[in-house]
Amino acid sequence: MFTFDIHLHTDYYSGCSVISPEQLIRRAIQMRLDGIAITEHGIRWPDDRLDQLRRLADPYNLILINGQEVHTYSPQNGMEGEYLVFGVKKSLGADFSAQELVERVHGEGGILIAAHPYKWSRHGRQRYYGAGDRIYELKLDALELYHPHHDEESLEKVRRAMEKLGLPGTGGSDAHQVQAIGSCVTILTKEVRSEEDFIREIRAGNIHAEKRGHPK
Ligand SMILES: [Zn+2]
Ligand SMILES: [Zn+2]
Repeated sequence: MFTFDIHLHTDYYSGCSVISPEQLIRRAIQMRLDGIAITEHGIRWPDDRLDQLRRLADPYNLILINGQEVHTYSPQNGMEGEYLVFGVKKSLGADFSAQELVERVHGEGGILIAAHPYKWSRHGRQRYYGAGDRIYELKLDALELYHPHHDEESLEKVRRAMEKLGLPGTGGSDAHQVQAIGSCVTILTKEVRSEEDFIREIRAGNIHAEKRGHPK
């Protein structure tokens, strides 16, 4: 079993995060994670910059996966959810509707995971800050199940969608602060050493999600 936190933001590209890339690596090692995926908002780390960071992670066999979290929008619907994207080699920004993003990512051989699909909006429990039931209309590759902002009702909705759509569930901390790293994780049953391995295992559904709380 290999434990990955696959939803993480650093202050290098996400202004809302106070985690430096070096802190991220240190904490992931301390939390005994086998791997992490960096998913900044609309930005993918340049591969050479990520390779520099790998020098800190490699001695501990900590695997670094490059990804991004893409915010979608359409004039008709407004926000159409956020998606963790892997396998697309450039930064995607935030200029897509959800359907356009799915087509673009699959066209490039990548995968999409609905990020916190049933996280409630700050403006009340009538709306989600996530894809909500739109996940039923899109061809996604997985759904984020464990996320710190999913309550019991959200979890129930994701579980139902996983069953109906036959999709695996992931866990990610969406950490913007060091303490949160590793609070929700994705367990991979096979060893993953690269983004390609990771994509293959998500597609194969050889994963499950776990919530670990906030260790001190
Ligand atoms: Zn998000
Ligand atoms: Zn996020």
